[in-house]
Amino acid sequence: MTEDRIWLSSPDMGGNELKYVKEAFDTNWIAPLGPNVDHFEKELGEYLGINHVAALSSGTAAIHLALILLGVKSGDEVIAQSFTFCGTTNPILYLGATPVLVDSEYDTWNLDPVLLEEAILDRIKKGKRPKAVIMVHLYGMPAKMKQIVEVCSRYEIPLIEDAAEALGSTIDGRKAGTFGDMGILSFNGNKIITTSGGGALVSNNTQWIDKSRFLATQARDEAPHYEHTELGYNYRMSNILAGVGRGQLEVLDSHVSKRRAVNAFYREHLSFEGLNFQSEMSANDFSNYWLTSVKIEPELLGVDREDVRLELWKSNIETRPLWKPMHLQPLYKDCVYYGNGVSDELFTKGLCLPSGSNLTTVELERVVVAIKGFIAKS
Ligand SMILES: *Cc1c(COP(=O)(O)O)cnc(C)c1O
Repeated sequence: MTEDRIWLSSPDMGGNELKYVKEAFDTNWIAPLGPNVDHFEKELGEYLGINHVAALSSGTAAIHLALILLGVKSGDEVIAQSFTFCGTTNPILYLGATPVLVDSEYDTWNLDPVLLEEAILDRIKKGKRPKAVIMVHLYGMPAKMKQIVEVCSRYEIPLIEDAAEALGSTIDGRKAGTFGDMGILSFNGNKIITTSGGGALVSNNTQWIDKSRFLATQARDEAPHYEHTELGYNYRMSNILAGVGRGQLEVLDSHVSKRRAVNAFYREHLSFEGLNFQSEMSANDFSNYWLTSVKIEPELLGVDREDVRLELWKSNIETRPLWKPMHLQPLYKDCVYYGNGVSDELFTKGLCLPSGSNLTTVELERVVVAIKGFIAKS
């Protein structure tokens, strides 16, 4: 008999989602606008401590709009963290712009501020001043934000903060997503809270967020008929999904606590040489630990990442390699890349463990026993 599947990260409903969805039905607000969208934007803004939020159809759409708002056009260069999911970088390609990929550092696994500065200086020397920088807080782990913000402001390059995985993470008590000129969030099915699919663009700049709403509703000019001067998109969040989001926001902090407890459990029970956790740099950093991620050293453990992943799969436990860096992706292979092999190594050795807020102690024990048993045997 096989045991039930343990998922990497599955949706975890709080209970009030259906209430807000029902309100949408009862009032017939079945559209990509309505009271749930308004409330969701307001409540999310309050949670983050930011003035303006546009609820959108996805995190990828939010990045696409952020790049448009910054004036990125065909032929422009945009610097991006290479170690990420393609949702971070694909919008650069949508615009016909050129991604310039920069590697991570070993402390947080996120954009290396030293390499970032080298890359900016080199691009400027080549007459190609980057139009924007996009950084990421991978798996919820706060990046070296202070240094990244400093570098970007030194060269006056706008910063887009991809906080898709980091809702609820903080640096010095301030929420991830609020450090960049614009921040983006995702509410995809596997994220810390979900609207099944959705995203948001956040900023303290009123003009940008107003303009993003305009662009996200097909850029309709003021007129009784449909009048279009600019190219728009259909990127707004539906009022039904925003209802799911309102219910999810109510349980966000409890999801963060639970994911952190999952992380603490793994740290307690899987502490051996050769298995290193992605960790907060200091007490000022607070990760939502969306996914607990480890680096597996084959020389010390006698098994490599794929051995562990495949062994766990036999016990019906889903784990996943870390993101394959963009500079290693066929789609991005011709991009300029500034790096020294950090994310290559993390990709080879890194594994994300089941981390859902709905995992039970029995399930966590199954994961720990499976990993420990396999390593002991090897
Ligand atoms: C999920 C994710 C995105 C994209 O969000 P979608 O809502 O799925 O479009 C972007 N960047 C990162 C780092 C992500 O994890």
